[in-house]
Amino acid sequence: MTKTLAIGTFTDTDRTALVEAFDPVFVAAAGEVADLDAATRDAITAVAFKGHAAFDGAVMDALPALGLIANYGVGYDAIDVAAADARGIKVTNTPDVLNDDVADLAVGMLLMQGREMEHASAWARSGQWKDKGEYRLNRKISGGRAGIVGLGRIGREIADRLAAFKMEIHYFSRSAKDTPGWTHHADPVALAGAVDYLIVSLVGGAETEKFVSAGVIEALGPDGILVNISRGSTVDEAALLDALEDGRLGGAALDVFLGEPDIDPRFHALPNVVIQPHQGSGTHQTRAAMAGLQRDNIAAFHAGDALLTPVN
Ligand code: NAP
Repeated sequence: MTKTLAIGTFTDTDRTALVEAFDPVFVAAAGEVADLDAATRDAITAVAFKGHAAFDGAVMDALPALGLIANYGVGYDAIDVAAADARGIKVTNTPDVLNDDVADLAVGMLLMQGREMEHASAWARSGQWKDKGEYRLNRKISGGRAGIVGLGRIGREIADRLAAFKMEIHYFSRSAKDTPGWTHHADPVALAGAVDYLIVSLVGGAETEKFVSAGVIEALGPDGILVNISRGSTVDEAALLDALEDGRLGGAALDVFLGEPDIDPRFHALPNVVIQPHQGSGTHQTRAAMAGLQRDNIAAFHAGDALLTPVN
């Protein structure tokens, strides 16, 4: 009887690697766990988890011998870690291996929004460049003031990149960090008021829900650009949509949304928003590294060795 259950939609390559390593049982979503027969569920000690739908205490209770949930991704807000703690279940994630890709995307989205690359591309593709002449002038990005909301692993990579764009770096974290002269703000509204671009790299979950509040958005203002690569939950999305529609916020570049992929249709109508389909870590190289780290954690667990990247 297999000891490993894989929950989620895995690529063919990752699925093959999981089969070779653990010969797991596969289900598409956590909601299908209860449908497995009792003997199969009773034998499961480790789960390879991929996805953003909730992995809650009820799913854990359906797997009475469960000792590990190995998450595919650094953000584990879908997993009820308190419920896992209460049941003695360890959780692991895949930090660091994705920092570069997510930071690259954040910087790319900022450039795309500020330099209007989507609209400029449409101008060229539609023949307007030939018929009407050069594309309208837009805004300089280099040399501006950037505010990082959450100077963690990814936030720091974003800050390093923006420093190379000759930007003044400001940041919010719960305590001041060792930095090359960047300005710490204890209050996110004060941070937003001090910068041109606000880049959100917080963890998701209940504690950071709507951390980028209506007040933060207001302080960023009509010339400000908000970039979010964290989770849709970290931004007050209704306030964001209102401010973008009213021109009280200059623009936004978003990789993450509430209810994704079924995002609020108001976003589609906004010309001042760059939309990305939650693809921050979505490169062949990084996804392979994430899947490898997930498997390494499961292998360590089954071998009785120390977990590589524990969360709890
Ligand atoms: P990290 O190193 O743990 O950094 C998280 C940041 O969140 C830290 O700056 C931390 O603040 C802050 N934070 C945590 N709890 C907080 C709270 N209660 N109140 C205020 N701030 C809080 O995580 P990471 O590896 O950089 O990843 C960050 C997030 O990016 C992930 O959790 C995930 O949601 C998201 N992500 C998105 C993609 C994508 O495809 N778009 C890909 C990967 C990750 P301190 O500095 O004060 O500790």
